[in-house]
Amino acid sequence: MRTTVTNEVSPFPECTLVHGVPVCGIDVGPETRCAHYHGDADIIAIRFPCCDRFYPCHACHDAVADHEAEVWPRDAFDTPAVLCGACGEKLTVSEYLRSNSACPACSEAFNPGCAQHRHLYFETPPS
Ligand SMILES: [Zn+2]
Ligand SMILES: [Zn+2]
Ligand SMILES: [Zn+2]
Repeated sequence: MRTTVTNEVSPFPECTLVHGVPVCGIDVGPETRCAHYHGDADIIAIRFPCCDRFYPCHACHDAVADHEAEVWPRDAFDTPAVLCGACGEKLTVSEYLRSNSACPACSEAFNPGCAQHRHLYFETPPS
């Protein structure tokens, strides 16, 4: 497991362990809610391919990471890149996109509003 070793006082809280997975960002809660998205259904974290770490949202990545976020290319959609904060299941990008805003493992509802932000995380087909 990755641990952060630093003697400096970080301007950001440590990553929070969610079902054993470090999720990094601002005010990350035990089910991956964060300072930006903290409704009942905001219970997923997304792994970013640029740094291979999970963040609750793109704004958390922008706040904590020192680089531009990258999105998952379509040929990597079979990567387990979405963490369900309710049960800890890791969904592949394809499974998440097919999930109809509910976890296929525990049936907990995901925020359907996230669909509006998919382009921030996943390569989308030209429409
Ligand atoms: Zn990154
Ligand atoms: Zn956030
Ligand atoms: Zn779940």
